[in-house]
Amino acid sequence: MHPHTNADLHCHSTVSDGTLPPEVLAERAKANGVELWALTDHDEVGGQQRALEAARALGLPYLTGVEISVTFAGKVVHIVGLGFDHHDPRIVEGLRTTRGGRGARAKEMAEGLAQVGIRGAYEGALKYAGNPELISRTHFARFLVEAGHCADVPEVFRRFLTEGKPGYVPHRWAALGDAVRWITGAGGLAVIAHPGRYGFTPTEEYALITEFIAHGGRGIEVVTGSHTAADMVQYTDTALEFDLLASRGSDFHSPEESRVDVGRLGEHLSGRLKPVWNALEHRIHWPAHGPA
Ligand code: AMP
Ligand code: MN
Ligand code: MN
Ligand code: MN
Repeated sequence: MHPHTNADLHCHSTVSDGTLPPEVLAERAKANGVELWALTDHDEVGGQQRALEAARALGLPYLTGVEISVTFAGKVVHIVGLGFDHHDPRIVEGLRTTRGGRGARAKEMAEGLAQVGIRGAYEGALKYAGNPELISRTHFARFLVEAGHCADVPEVFRRFLTEGKPGYVPHRWAALGDAVRWITGAGGLAVIAHPGRYGFTPTEEYALITEFIAHGGRGIEVVTGSHTAADMVQYTDTALEFDLLASRGSDFHSPEESRVDVGRLGEHLSGRLKPVWNALEHRIHWPAHGPA
């Protein structure tokens, strides 16, 4: 596949915190011109079979995907896994463990919000969670908008759901090495998601990348809906410096909330980069008629 393939290897469905079911997302990806797709729900592979079958029916080449929440240097880092066996018991079990804390965390978040006068946030957020095990800050944000506390989702995050704010509850997610091993152990490739979002110092970022590589991680997102143009230039250099494979994905969650639609990223990977999809050719689920 060409470096300028319209690959979208990062997006979310109702299986985590997106608003569209996997089948609807598959149709939207196809309609928007995606040529290689991966659904990467947070900490859950329960949507993979549905996405794969929907993609196959549409003639859309598919890679399995997931986005794993990791705690590194006291911050949350997201690791995308691509092209793994979604039935592999170690990744399935590992993800079940990391999801385990979300229910209790959500109740604590609701208590924090109740203290500033916002009632019923747990039940309200739960209504938005297609999968109660995956109840996330995004679902709280949607409820707070619906209940009229804020005008939009980003405002909820700013005022209520980020560090130091009343609805923020820190959580211990998976260890970096575990997340990478679940992915690679299941035959997949691990990718650092949206590196421009973490606000790491250069020293912290160097530690993240070198530890990630030491654990067997091989890729980094360069072109993503969460990067500015400057981030894309910076992480092109980072990928080259560390000889990492480059990935591309919208991080689409919802037609109402997301800045970039699935398949509608404005940028391609620089021709100097090695795309992750070249290393994953043997893991692509091709539609019935085989490679185009
Ligand atoms: P959680 O895994 O429950 O901590 O929720 C994290 C999710 O919240 C991310 O995957 C994003 O979808 C969303 N999110 C995080 N920060 C923001 C923000 N500043 N504005 C909008 N959505 C955000
Ligand atoms: Mn999300
Ligand atoms: Mn993310
Ligand atoms: Mn994401």
